[in-house]
Amino acid sequence: MNGESVSQVWTDLLQLSGFAVVYLEQDAAHQRYFITVVPEHAIGVCPQCHRACDTIKQRRTRARILDLPIGSHAVELTVRVGHFECQHCGHCFTPPIPFLAEGSHATERLLGRAAELIRPSDVANAACFFGIPEKTLEGWYYAFIERGCPSGFWHL
Ligand SMILES: [Zn+2]
Repeated sequence: MNGESVSQVWTDLLQLSGFAVVYLEQDAAHQRYFITVVPEHAIGVCPQCHRACDTIKQRRTRARILDLPIGSHAVELTVRVGHFECQHCGHCFTPPIPFLAEGSHATERLLGRAAELIRPSDVANAACFFGIPEKTLEGWYYAFIERGCPSGFWHL
């Protein structure tokens, strides 16, 4: 996509279904990876007429999304998705990012793991473990619990 090369190794490691890693930067001093992912297929399904659509009008970026740590490194994702204009009905839409936790700068699987840690210990320990401010994680955690836990989630 856009002449960017996909890193298959990192795509396999990250395991975000349907998304590929196109950029990786390591901040060794702060033990952090910055990873950019894009959808593997540049096709969206129009929510209005339910037909496949490949006309991308512009790119949308969701930045600073925290994901599960890799080794000793925290992971911060940038997600680039297309904003489509349906060539069949003219409707404009951005396909949802399935792994993104609604209203949080975090992935659902990170919050799932955090929720597992929070139950036996507490928010402060989990926040420390993930390097997230305690109040921030607390807000995400409560929102996550209120949404109900997506099925199959706890075993990621
Ligand atoms: Zn349409």
